[in-house]
Amino acid sequence: MNILFFTSEAIPFAKTGGLGDVGGLLPKALAASEKVFLIMPDYMTENIKKIKTTPIESFSVQIGSETFSAIVKKATISPNFTVFFVSNEHFFAREFLYGDSSGDYPDNFVRFLFFQLAAMEFVNKKHLHFDIFHCNDWQTAMIPLFLKLNYRSALFEKTKVVFSIHNLGYQGTFAGSLFRETGLPAYLFSPEYLEFYGKLNCLKAGIIFSDWIATVSPTYAKEIISTEKGFGLDGLLKKFSYKLSGILNGVDYSQWDPQIDPFIASQYSSQSLDRKNPNKQELFSELGIAKNSRIPLLALISRISEQKGMDLLLKLLPVLLKEDLHFILLGVGDGFWTEKLKELAYQFADKLTFLNYFDEKMAHQLEAAADILFMPSIYEPCGLNQIYSLKYGTVPIVRATGGLQDSIQDFEPATRQGNGFKFNGNDIKEIIKLIKRVLSMYENRDLWREIQKNGMMADFSWQKVVPKYLALYNKILTEVPKNG
Ligand code: ADP
Repeated sequence: MNILFFTSEAIPFAKTGGLGDVGGLLPKALAASEKVFLIMPDYMTENIKKIKTTPIESFSVQIGSETFSAIVKKATISPNFTVFFVSNEHFFAREFLYGDSSGDYPDNFVRFLFFQLAAMEFVNKKHLHFDIFHCNDWQTAMIPLFLKLNYRSALFEKTKVVFSIHNLGYQGTFAGSLFRETGLPAYLFSPEYLEFYGKLNCLKAGIIFSDWIATVSPTYAKEIISTEKGFGLDGLLKKFSYKLSGILNGVDYSQWDPQIDPFIASQYSSQSLDRKNPNKQELFSELGIAKNSRIPLLALISRISEQKGMDLLLKLLPVLLKEDLHFILLGVGDGFWTEKLKELAYQFADKLTFLNYFDEKMAHQLEAAADILFMPSIYEPCGLNQIYSLKYGTVPIVRATGGLQDSIQDFEPATRQGNGFKFNGNDIKEIIKLIKRVLSMYENRDLWREIQKNGMMADFSWQKVVPKYLALYNKILTEVPKNG
C-alpha cells in the first residue's frame, strides 16, 4: 500500500504537541510493511536542517491575487519512508510553528492554505500515486476537498482519504472573508459546507469530504458526537458517524521506558521496582525538597490550559495538600491559569512545586520519581502521559474521558485487576475521597507493587497500533464507497 501523510508537524522535525508525536511515529511504524510518504511544511528547524534533503520540484502557487513560490525538498529516511518538505521562507521560516507569546500568527490560514495547495500540486505534478491520503487536523483538512474538486484525474481515481481529528477544540476557524482566498466555488461557503456561523471552518472540510474520519481513541470518537464535547460540530459529526471511528495512539518505548531511559538517575523494570525510589530521592534533592522519599509524590505534566482541568486542580489542591504528600506540577501555557497556580504554589510552598517550564528531561525524571500521576483533563482525545506513567510504575488517577477512559482500568483489590483509578464529575469531596483511598493502598507495599506491575506489563507500542490502521485502510479501500 502507498500511503501519504499530510501533517503540519511530525517528530523529530517539528512538534508542538500530540499531533507531532503521531505525525512522526505512526508513519514510521507503518513503514515497516508499507510504502510511506509524509509531506509537511519546511519550518527550517534545527532538526530539519540536520537531515540531508534534495530539492526536487519548484513551482508557484496562486492565492487570491498573489503568487508565492514553493520548493519541495525530499529526504529519504529509510527505504520505505520518504519525507517531503514544502519550503517557502515567508510562510515557514519563523521561530514557532503556529504563533508566539502574543498569540497565533495572523496569517495562519494563508500559511496552511499555501501548504495544502502546494502539497496537492506537487503530488499531481510528480504523478505520484497513493492508495491512501491520511490528513491530520485543520491544517490539512482542505486536502480531501481539493482532491475531490480539483484533481479528478485517473491518478487519484482510487485514492481514499482518512481524516484524523486529534483535538476537536482546534478547528481552524477564520474570518469568512478569507474564503475568497481558497478559490473554491461560492456555494461551498454555506452552513452545509465550510461556513460556521459566518466564519470559515477548515475542519468541516475534512469531516465532510473525507472517506473516513479517525480520532485518537474509541471513547473520544463517541464523545465528539455529544453536545458537551462536540464543540459545536457534534451535529455534523453525528451525521457522518457512519464513517467515524477511534484508534488509541501508541507510544514510543525507545524514548519512554525506565529500563533504558538516559534521563533518569536510576533505571528500573517491573522486576527491580526497588530502584524506582532513588529517582524520587534524586529529584527531591535536585529541586531542594527536604522530605523523606517515602512520602507519596503526585505529579501532573501538562499544558496549562482549561482543557487539562486547571479549574478543578485549583479547587482541589488546597484540600489535597492537607494530606501528607508532595505535589509537583510541570507545565507551561495559558497566562490566567499559570498566575493562579503560581499564587497557590507560593501559598503552599512546602507541599506544592510548580515547575513552570517545558523540559523533556524533567518530564522523564518526574515520570520515574512520582508515585501517582494525576490527570483531571475535562476532555482528553488520547493523552500520552498516563500511558508513559503505566510503563514507569507511576499509578494514574484520571478523569474517565477519551483516551484516559480507554487506557486506564480501575484497580479492583478483590481481583487484583486494573492499572489505575478513574473518576467522573467535579465533586471535590468525591475526588479527594478517591485519592485518599489510593494513598492508603500506597501504604500497602505488596498491593501497590501489583498495581504498578499491571501497568508496566501492558503494551501500548505503535507496533501494536499499526494493524488497526492497516485494517482501517483496507476497509475503506475495499468496502467504503468513494465520497464524491
Ligand atoms: P497534548 O497534546 O494535549 O498537549 P498529550 O498528553 O497528548 O497532550 O501530550 C503532551 C506531551 O507533551 C507529552 O509527551 C508530555 O510529556 C509533554 N509535555 C507537556 N508539558 C510538558 C512540559 N512542561 N515539559 C515537558 N514535556 C511536556
